[in-house]
Amino acid sequence: MPLDNCQSPGATSRAIKALSGMPGQGVTETQYIINPGMKGISMGAHKVNPAIKVSKLSFSYGTSMALQDVSFEVEDGGFLGLIGPNGSGKTTLAKILCGILPFSKGSVEVLGAKYTGMVGGSKSTAYVPQKVNLESYFPLTVFEAVSLGIRSVSLFNPPSPHAKAEVERTIQSLGLKAFTGKNIGELSGGQLQRVFLAKALVSEPKILILDEPTAGIDATNQTNLAQILLDLNAKGTTIILVSHDLSFLGVLAKQVICLNKTVHYCGVPSKLDPAALRKAYGAEVSLVGHTHTHEFTLGK
Ligand code: ADP
Repeated sequence: MPLDNCQSPGATSRAIKALSGMPGQGVTETQYIINPGMKGISMGAHKVNPAIKVSKLSFSYGTSMALQDVSFEVEDGGFLGLIGPNGSGKTTLAKILCGILPFSKGSVEVLGAKYTGMVGGSKSTAYVPQKVNLESYFPLTVFEAVSLGIRSVSLFNPPSPHAKAEVERTIQSLGLKAFTGKNIGELSGGQLQRVFLAKALVSEPKILILDEPTAGIDATNQTNLAQILLDLNAKGTTIILVSHDLSFLGVLAKQVICLNKTVHYCGVPSKLDPAALRKAYGAEVSLVGHTHTHEFTLGK
């Protein structure tokens, strides 16, 4: 199982330091820059203390095992793509990372804080769920929906003037200004998806977790979404993207995990080979599947 890339460069470097006894000795200097004044190690613009560290995590729904002995790390500023067949535990893992789902076996550390397994999670983590079932008459405007992304705001506790300004700024940044007062039930799939992204982003999370965000949206909206995610990642947001769309993930993610209850592959997308996919999917899976191309500007 190619898991060598499952540890962040920080972990690799710590291991090398432990072996050599000298800070940074043996580390390829073009890859890692040791900064003795800081706890972590910087690689380019990113800190490399892992933003997420999962060790030997297992999870069951009653007697049904959904995750078994899952271990990996995501570096601060990383972009992880999570793939796997239906029922392979992707959503379960995403919910655990957000603190929505309590777990009892293994350990999960997010931004240096250990989750205890209780529901709560990190305030710096935002989750865009897979499916949001809304009736077309649901009485919530785009502004109100995005406001709910601010922790202190509820339907009975409206946003402060400062929070209102944040909501307006986020709505504007996602190109939703024209829909501010519209009922969310009147929006298209792509627009609604951007509203939920705005709701997640309004609190400026350090980690953004999206579950199947491309499901049900057209090629143009997929490209727009990809650009938004690349821009956020370039600004330092750590992103975890659950997707079935391997070619979409392949161009965005810096690291891919192929999951089927356990980790079958963890590494760079370019090394994700058919054998690893076959192991996880239990069948031949083609990396080809797109009828359109995406044009992105990297690091805008
Ligand atoms: P994926 O996101 O990869 O499709 P999930 O994490 O949703 O997979 O599900 C993993 C397994 O856990 C599946 O077998 C699924 O049926 C089961 N499962 C998911 N949610 C629940 C639940 N609330 N109660 C019981 N079993 C569940």
